[in-house]
Amino acid sequence: MKPTLQTQLVVIGSGPGGYSAAFRAADLGMEVTLIERYSELGGVCLNVGCIPSKALLHVAQIRREVSTAAHVGLSFSDNGVDLDKVRAFKQSSVDKLSGGVSAMAKERKVRVLQGYARFSGSHQLLIEQEDGVQLLQFEQAIIAAGSRSVQLPFIPHDDARVWDSTAALELRSIPPRLLVIGGGIIGLELGTVYQSLGSQVTVVEASPQLVPAADKDLIDIFQRSNKDYLTVLLSTRVTAVEARADALGVTLEDAKGQPAQQDFDAILVAVGRRPNGLLLDADKAGVKVDERGFIPVSKQMQTSQPHIFAIGDIAGEPMLAHKATHEGHVAAEVAAGHRQSFDALVIPSIAYTNPEIAWVGLTEKQARQQGLAYQVAAFPWKFNGRAIGADRVDGKTKLIYDEATGRLLGAGLVGINAGELLAELTLAIEFGATVDDIALTIHAHPTLSESVGLAAELAVGTITDLP
Ligand code: FAD
Repeated sequence: MKPTLQTQLVVIGSGPGGYSAAFRAADLGMEVTLIERYSELGGVCLNVGCIPSKALLHVAQIRREVSTAAHVGLSFSDNGVDLDKVRAFKQSSVDKLSGGVSAMAKERKVRVLQGYARFSGSHQLLIEQEDGVQLLQFEQAIIAAGSRSVQLPFIPHDDARVWDSTAALELRSIPPRLLVIGGGIIGLELGTVYQSLGSQVTVVEASPQLVPAADKDLIDIFQRSNKDYLTVLLSTRVTAVEARADALGVTLEDAKGQPAQQDFDAILVAVGRRPNGLLLDADKAGVKVDERGFIPVSKQMQTSQPHIFAIGDIAGEPMLAHKATHEGHVAAEVAAGHRQSFDALVIPSIAYTNPEIAWVGLTEKQARQQGLAYQVAAFPWKFNGRAIGADRVDGKTKLIYDEATGRLLGAGLVGINAGELLAELTLAIEFGATVDDIALTIHAHPTLSESVGLAAELAVGTITDLP
């Protein structure tokens, strides 16, 4: 088959990694082709990930505030849910951003092709399109093909009551009893949404802690705050699911191997995501892919073939949109001949739950495991004026810093808007700031960010105790 198309740079996948790479490369003067299998640009994040989940979490937050408003002297008579309108609100958030990505591609003269791409040689891709297959000849390529939800072998995934995150975001119905398998970020966020819309939500997590990557003291506050909203079963596994007409019969096994039966109306499987590296025939281009589907890359985002780059979820953990975007810029710049490398010290993580959980850099757990000489300073939000005024004292700000130098190693927060507070601490770590630097920085009063300054003041001793 002869090539029907030629390009200087091809980008496979239009998620945050792919579109950021394509736009940066075009801005640097390259001729770019962007291939996306779906008709909408934006990938998982924009269409079935970050954006729709945050729109629904906004709805969830309003509902929870309304349901607790009596506490501050307000009452609302109508507390109903119009599911069509909720769905429309979510979709409008997605459409605004997806339309923006298409417009930006057009502005930059990035050629967008809809189709599924597979390598057929070191400089060739086969693109399966609705009306046939095209062969594209490229000089350089950036693989940004993302990841997909992990499925469990003993679960009937073809049953319409068994959801992955994409199905859950469709908001087809509000099941009276929802089981969320997996107490990580995605499971907790979507569990929060369904609970607020009326489901009784049970979260089952195989580890002894929700969001195992974060520190336990933060998670304890989240869990205490959600004790009336989410039923959490830790150190528990789902071992079988029977799809009956009236319900999904679930067998759960606790840490002692004790089995229990429970019925649910729907199940959300949120046990992680698998990179798409093994679905691209990358071996035909000589690109190494590991057994899990990740594509190993250098700091320049180059694969085992230097003219082929990989970015985003497919290039390794953490699978986060902001990591993908930054990697996309690096790959595009290197492809355009610039000296560049991915050298972020830290990548922030946020669970947009209620309250939010956020952390960056080393957790206390990691500092301990690495045998570092570190100190921790923590400021509970029950002493923060803004948190008291917002009736949300279920929060904490903690700093992990080097014992000898005071240099910030990591930070963790739990509380409303904790994710927004994380930016200051991310910047502090990137700049090599010490707790003294943070303590000397004036934080506006009364703000939640004051808790960052006060945690640092506790660290340096300018405040010595709390009331
Ligand atoms: P993706 O966004 O996965 O995009 C890959 C694209 O490639 C897709 O559009 C796919 O259709 C296309 N593609 C794949 N194979 C081919 C092929 N062979 N040919 C053509 N096209 C192909 N991250 C955050 O940072 N913050 C959040 O709040 C957040 N929330 C999330 C919520 C949910 C429910 C989920 C599922 C994920 C969330 N994530 C979040 C993770 C985030 O979505 C991903 O990290 C991010 O989308 C990765 O970007 P990417 O560019 O690597 O790939």
